[in-house]
Amino acid sequence: MRPAVLNPLFAELTGLKGVGPRIARAIEAAVGGTHVVDLLWHFPSAVIDRRFAPKIADIPDGALVTVTATVGPHQVPRHKRQPYRVTLHDETGELTLVFFRANADYLKRQLPEGAVRVVSGRAQAFGGGMQITHPDHIGTAAEQQSLQAIEPTYPLSAGVSRKPMQKAVRAAVNLAPPLPEWLDPALVAREGWAPWRESLLAAHAPGGEADLVPETAPRRRLGYDELLANQLALLLLRRNMRRKPGRAITGDGGLRNRVLGALPYRLTAAQSRALDEILGDMAAPSRMLRLLQGDVGSGKTVVALLAMLAAVETGAQAALMAPTEILARQHHAVLNRLCEGAGVRIGLLTGRGRGKGRDLLLRHVAAGAVQIVVGTHALFQDEVAFNDLALAVVDEQHRFGVHQRMALAARTSGPPPDILVMSATPIPRTLTLTAYGDMDVSRLDEKPPGRRPVATGVMPAGRLDEVVARLVAAVAGGARAYWVCPLVSESGALDAAAAEDRYAALQTVFGDRVGLAHGKMKPAARDDVMARFAAGDLSVLVATTVIEVGVDVPEATVMVIEHAERFGLAQLHQLRGRVGRGGAESSCVLLYAPPLTETARARLEILRRTEDGFRIAEEDLRLRGAGEILGTRQSGLPQFRVADLAAHADLLPVARDDAYALLEQDPELKSPRGSALRTLMYLFGRDAAIALIGAG
Ligand code: ADP
Ligand code: MG
Repeated sequence: MRPAVLNPLFAELTGLKGVGPRIARAIEAAVGGTHVVDLLWHFPSAVIDRRFAPKIADIPDGALVTVTATVGPHQVPRHKRQPYRVTLHDETGELTLVFFRANADYLKRQLPEGAVRVVSGRAQAFGGGMQITHPDHIGTAAEQQSLQAIEPTYPLSAGVSRKPMQKAVRAAVNLAPPLPEWLDPALVAREGWAPWRESLLAAHAPGGEADLVPETAPRRRLGYDELLANQLALLLLRRNMRRKPGRAITGDGGLRNRVLGALPYRLTAAQSRALDEILGDMAAPSRMLRLLQGDVGSGKTVVALLAMLAAVETGAQAALMAPTEILARQHHAVLNRLCEGAGVRIGLLTGRGRGKGRDLLLRHVAAGAVQIVVGTHALFQDEVAFNDLALAVVDEQHRFGVHQRMALAARTSGPPPDILVMSATPIPRTLTLTAYGDMDVSRLDEKPPGRRPVATGVMPAGRLDEVVARLVAAVAGGARAYWVCPLVSESGALDAAAAEDRYAALQTVFGDRVGLAHGKMKPAARDDVMARFAAGDLSVLVATTVIEVGVDVPEATVMVIEHAERFGLAQLHQLRGRVGRGGAESSCVLLYAPPLTETARARLEILRRTEDGFRIAEEDLRLRGAGEILGTRQSGLPQFRVADLAAHADLLPVARDDAYALLEQDPELKSPRGSALRTLMYLFGRDAAIALIGAG
């Protein structure tokens, strides 16, 4: 149960004064949540400095001023179109306040003649006098201090303007209760941090522009709080997974030796190391939950296969789940080829294809006659029952998140399978912790020998004709090329249109040697185009990012990417990884639409300089921040509200160690500090993990 002290923060936004349903919806669009707590993390993006408080005679034209003066006569307009005027005066002169379409009653109440008032707004010289049109604030003399201050302003959305947003945030922040300290006192002292509530108040009371950044002490403290909540949740998840009994899987090595013996190459040192780590986990009686991380082309597939064979050698089954139909088919073909002559039965199960063949396959899976099953999400539908699933391999994990991992584990009855997740997304180490903190990690940090670098060029879109001319020459020499059009909209409809336009244009040059593949096509039609490209019937494949993951055409040597500035670096890197797979020289052209911002230029430069995916990811994180690293929300990475993974990167390992130590000392979070930590986890919406304490 959520600690009662937090209840005011988990009330609906509409409970705040001045926030009706309409404004609440607009605020929700800006802050991404419907509860009071969501406003706490909505930090100011600018300040308005109202400290300048001159006498009326000294007001410079155009200045933002806060003036204290006595209210004089009201000048009520005779026509609606005329403005309402009120004159104020101090000992030095007169100032006119101007209101259009004014509510006279309201103004008379706000500005009673003879009273002293504080008004703040932008002053303008007009007809020999000074005036303020629609002052931002009108207050009493008693409110002078609070008005003559630095005022925070917040990011807005359509439907909510500055003042209501400020008011709502202030009201929310005022509801924040003091909470017991959950941080290590030594850490707090070292960093010079204030308690939670004070830090929150300070983050919303910037003293100037310099206080608007995540590097300030209050923002670091709040960011650390969130990182700690995240790490605790992941460690609880991990502990829960591991507490469930697993099984010790040690095969006799027979199948593995046969497959290894038939390989035309030797495993790299990185592959051998990763495989040893995986087999070690599988042989242990507890459950495996391991991430196999490796850049495109680092050779994850064969490592996964050898792990699956270890399971098959014991008489059990293994499954390999891919994110798309195309990839599942490709994996199936590759595994079959690698296992040729080894006598392993490998089935393919996807969402497509119904009827007898499928029924038969399901029966064989249930009977254990099919030893390895490759498939899409369809693998984990109710109708699929494994005879004895010992290992589940999940490819391209970045499309799945922690929740999907939990669901997958729940799908299987009996002793739960070991889980190996493969990710080709080069994620910086810091992010690995936030996304995969519940898993052990093996990294393939070395590529198989013989890879040639991909010559990468960055060019403005104005030189498109030149690129096409060079492509014509390359195609005449037998080259195959990808031409990628960017993601324009979430729906994919616009991307398809852009790709169709480019396809039509290139058809006039390449005729029927060019094909088109995008996400709006029927999957079967798309697969067909891809297959024709793979077979060499097509020389140029115009595509949206559907080709991003895993498609393998070793003969392709040219990659052209339009509007490269719109892609995440990791994504560009993945796309580029589609070429340079065979023995031939390959090239990649990154076309951009000028003008490029300096950051955008620097990002594309990184790609030109290096092909090391992990370095690219680290640089991208540094340049753009984590939010955009993978370009899309579906990245599966956790979304942080306060923590800024670029600015707070140094705090992540600290949070990790802290969380470890905390759960060592107080596994049930029962101590006073443990209970404060539970509150913290509720505060950041990580409470689902609390249910795992003592469960399982
Ligand atoms: P990933 O899935 O990590 O992107 P793959 O498993 O598809 O990479 O491997 C990429 C290519 O490298 C494949 O063609 C594979 O046959 C080849 N390969 C894998 N391991 C080695 C190795 N040790 N030596 C040479 N080639 C290898
Ligand atoms: Mg792969």
